[in-house]
Amino acid sequence: MEQIGKTKEGGEIENELIFLKQELVEKDEKIKKLEEENEKLKLDSIHDELTGLKSRGYFMEKARDDISAVSSPESEKRKEGFIDVSFLFCDIDYFKEINDTYGHPFGDEILKEVARLLEANIRDSDTVCRWGGEEITISLLGADEKEAVDKAEKLRKAVEEGINQKYGNNPKYSDLKTSLSIGVSSFESGLSFEELINRSDRAMYLAKKEGRNCVKTYSEIKEKENIDAG
Ligand code: GH3
Ligand code: MG
Ligand code: MG
Repeated sequence: MEQIGKTKEGGEIENELIFLKQELVEKDEKIKKLEEENEKLKLDSIHDELTGLKSRGYFMEKARDDISAVSSPESEKRKEGFIDVSFLFCDIDYFKEINDTYGHPFGDEILKEVARLLEANIRDSDTVCRWGGEEITISLLGADEKEAVDKAEKLRKAVEEGINQKYGNNPKYSDLKTSLSIGVSSFESGLSFEELINRSDRAMYLAKKEGRNCVKTYSEIKEKENIDAG
């Protein structure tokens, strides 16, 4: 009797083990699926859907980190030699006209191409973001004002020439001109992210005022203010 009872019990335990193992496999699969979905969600919130550039939220975090990195003498980045950071505020000139002339989907295509050209001409340590609409911001880690202006000029030319190369030979787009107005601001001790981005935005508006398709710095605004005051 005792023997039979033991055998039954053994069988039950075995069955339970098989059941638990199955449950574990299923849970494992569920966890993997949730992890994949989570990764996808994270990627979606990091990137702008249309252009593939970094999202505004991501940029705000990363550019703040860049500012902290160059501000703190202890930071790894500073030890690597990154002592400056500059922002570029880029705005596509007369973009509304491009939409109006060639249609919104073509405007989207131009936005994507501009994004691609910018990404192709920056360093790994730089961050390019779709700030909103046809505005793109870039954090240049390690660049002082002079280096940032040189980079902005390089990017401005890359966009003008790149779009011209792609569409210039097509008679359908004979009137198409795509250019950027770019504002530059460089970090000074004590400046916040908001102040630095605001300075680059103001410099971009100066570039618009001065005829578009050009690069202007916040220093030039300050110079003008000093001349007007004196
Ligand atoms: P400015 O040289 O002064 O910058 O002129 P602009 O025409 O570029 O400026 P405005 O602010 O008048 O127009 C911006 C246009 O950008 C209007 C808006 O419809 C267009 N736009 C914003 N986001 C998108 C987008 O995702 N796709 C397309 N195709 N157009 C967009
Ligand atoms: Mg704009
Ligand atoms: Mg514009």
